[in-house]
Parts: sequence; structure tokens; C-alpha cells
Amino acid sequence: MKKKIIIIGGSIAGLNTALILASAINKDLDFEITIIDEGKADILKAEVYNVPFFPKAIKGEEIISHIKNQITSFTKISYINAKATEISGNNGALVIKSTQGEFNAEYAVIATGASECDIKGLEEFIEPHDLMPKPGKIKLKHTGRNLIKDGVYVAGIASGVTSMVSCALGSAAETACAILSDIKGSVSVIHDFKDSRK
Ligand SMILES: Cc1cc2nc3c(=O)[nH]c(=O)nc-3n(C[C@H](O)[C@H](O)[C@H](O)COP(=O)(O)OP(=O)(O)OC[C@H]3O[C@@H](n4cnc5c(N)ncnc54)[C@H](O)[C@@H]3O)c2cc1C
Repeated sequence: MKKKIIIIGGSIAGLNTALILASAINKDLDFEITIIDEGKADILKAEVYNVPFFPKAIKGEEIISHIKNQITSFTKISYINAKATEISGNNGALVIKSTQGEFNAEYAVIATGASECDIKGLEEFIEPHDLMPKPGKIKLKHTGRNLIKDGVYVAGIASGVTSMVSCALGSAAETACAILSDIKGSVSVIHDFKDSRK
């Protein structure tokens, strides 16, 4: 079974969602993952000292490059340098429009950060981000498992979590596992154990 996933936002939250989905690929489940990103990530302004296992003072560019390499060790995904402008359709038949063309997907993940979300089709879900004390910061309304609406999930600080790398990563992990659970029809996690991939 091959599932098409579009992730809008290719910073740490979008990439961590992709990483966990990629790690779930096996003989029965495969993903075609496309990440659309317009290159305005908050992480690109950061120098990080407070995430476990990250080298001291790591820059956003290095973090992104490292996660992309980790994804590549599981599968090849497509990176589109563009702005997503519209999302329509339902679970299994979503259409995402962007400045670089149109994409079809069974699932979509909105990992667009807290600065703005002017993607047509999501207007009714936009709310003030109450954990970011700056004007204009937004989040997208969702259920407990980051589901915005049928087939469309949110990840990272766009979900309303605190603006910390660890929180954005955790939110993205929840989103990936929610999608995996939806596909499986029961709770799903990806746990490796000693030598399990050898
Ligand atoms: C100056 C600064 C310093 C920081 N320092 C730290 C720190 O030391 N420790 C720490 O834990 N946290 C720090 N943070 C917070 C951390 O950077 C954020 O919590 C984290 O980047 C959030 O990740 P995210 O993937 O949710 O969103 P973002 O990193 O903001 O990424 C969102 C992505 O979505 C893309 N996007 C948005 N809309 C669209 C669209 N329509 N189409 C296509 N792409 C789109 C953007 O281009 C961007 O790449 C810092 C933040 C800043 C600004």
C-alpha cells in the first residue's frame, strides 16, 4: 500500500513528520512524501543550545540538513521550493495548489510555523497563538491528535505548542503517529529495538 503525503512547511516540524513516516516504510506500507517549503523557517534564525543530543550552538541550516540526510537513509522524498496557496478535497483525495503547481495527496500536514497561514481552505481554523506573546502569531484549531479536518493534520508550532524546538519536534511526532494510526485503524508507533533493522 502506497500513501501520498504532502507536507507544507519544511522546517523541523515538517521534516520530523517526514522522518517518522519514512521510518515506518515496510513491505506492506510505502509513502510518496513531498515537502513544499518557501524557506522562511524560524529555525534559520536560531542557534540552539538546549535540545538533547544536538551539538552545542548548532545552527538551523545544519539541523535541517542533518534531518534531511536522516530521511534519505530511509527513502527519497521530493522537496518543492514554493508557497502552498490552497488546499481542498477530503481524506484520500486532497488537492494542494502552490506557486509551483498542483499536487494530489491522501494526507496533508500543515507545518507552517506561527507567523501566518494564508492557505485558502484553512481560514476557519486560524486562531491566535496564545503561547507566543507577540502580535500576529497564529495556530490552527485541531483535535487532540493534531487533526484539523478529514485527512489534514497540523504539526509544530502551528499546532499551538510552545515555540521551542523540542515542542515542535514532539508535536510533529504526534502527527506522524496519528497518520500511521489512521492508516492502520488502531494505535500505531514506530519502535525499533536492538538490531531490528539489520
Ligand atoms: C531568533 C530565534 C531563536 C530561537 N532559538 C531557539 C532556541 O535556542 N531553542 C529552541 O528550542 N527554540 C528556539 N527558537 C524557536 C524555534 O526556532 C521554533 O520553535 C521552531 O523553528 C518551530 O519549528 P516549526 O517547524 O514548527 O516552524 P518554523 O521553523 O517556523 O517553520 C515553518 C516553515 O513553514 C514554511 N511555510 C510557511 N507557510 C508556508 C506556505 N504557505 N507554503 C510553503 N511553506 C510555508 C516556512 O517557510 C518555514 O520553513 C528560536 C526562534 C527564533 C525566531
